[in-house]
Amino acid sequence: MTYDESLTTEIKQFTLSLGADKVGIAEAERADKTPMFFASPFSFVKDAKSIISICLKYPEGALEVSKEDFFVYLSSFASTRQAMLEKLNSIGMEVARELEKKGYRAVPLDANLPIDERRWVSCLLSHRYIAQIAGLGDIGANNLLITPEWGPRVELTSVITNAPLKPDGPKLAGKIFEEKCSSCFKCIEACPTQALSREKMPPYNFELNRCLWGTQGWLQLSKIEIPPEEWINARPTAMVMVPRYTAKYPFIKVYQEWQKKKADFPCCIACMLACPVGKE
Ligand code: SF4
Ligand code: SF4
Repeated sequence: MTYDESLTTEIKQFTLSLGADKVGIAEAERADKTPMFFASPFSFVKDAKSIISICLKYPEGALEVSKEDFFVYLSSFASTRQAMLEKLNSIGMEVARELEKKGYRAVPLDANLPIDERRWVSCLLSHRYIAQIAGLGDIGANNLLITPEWGPRVELTSVITNAPLKPDGPKLAGKIFEEKCSSCFKCIEACPTQALSREKMPPYNFELNRCLWGTQGWLQLSKIEIPPEEWINARPTAMVMVPRYTAKYPFIKVYQEWQKKKADFPCCIACMLACPVGKE
């Protein structure tokens, strides 16, 4: 395939001028038929050639606030995350419009991809895997995208287009894991629900039901770190247990309301905070 190098440079510069912290190009073909995605980029743009991966870093201060007081967390991390997702959506839209002006088709994806309840975490297309293919970072032991500059303290979005942009390639894939994770595993030690393990490579080292106990707020309400066995073993996911546990912890309804208003923020980010990459 032939690429338009000057268009690639122009689109990258345009994306950065809108406030993105980092941008990379993934080859659309590489994001098709992978075990991580439940949709193909070609379902969005039938002649897709490229996916633009756009990254925003968190202001470090927003991640340093008290995790003890939930209201502090809600009005700092959750609000910051929501603002970042909105900014990413706006950047994605402008990039798509710019490509359209130049005669190409482009579809910006929502930065907060809808979650399929049966699979919960695995989305139609995963921004973090697109970012890995686009050379922005590597998937770490915490299953998050680890950038060399800011570790996992980033949010991402993607724009699918038929513009022939030059791909950056997965130049960091496997490297950050090998150089950092394999002698670290701080995220695994920090995970209160033991959702992560050292035994396998990501994404196979991750137990969704245990993580849901943390991210959905049950850990904070119950003060119990390891979820009950029936929660861990529930299928298709622990979300089938929610009605029964709501009777036990009725305040979860308030948490769910807050999450709905604030772009589904996770109530646990211990594995993100523990990561030393980008802090050295
Ligand atoms: S905390 Fe350590 S093991 Fe976990 S993602 Fe970061 S570098 Fe890798
Ligand atoms: S979000 Fe919390 S519960 Fe889930 S893997 Fe990370 S540290 Fe563990």
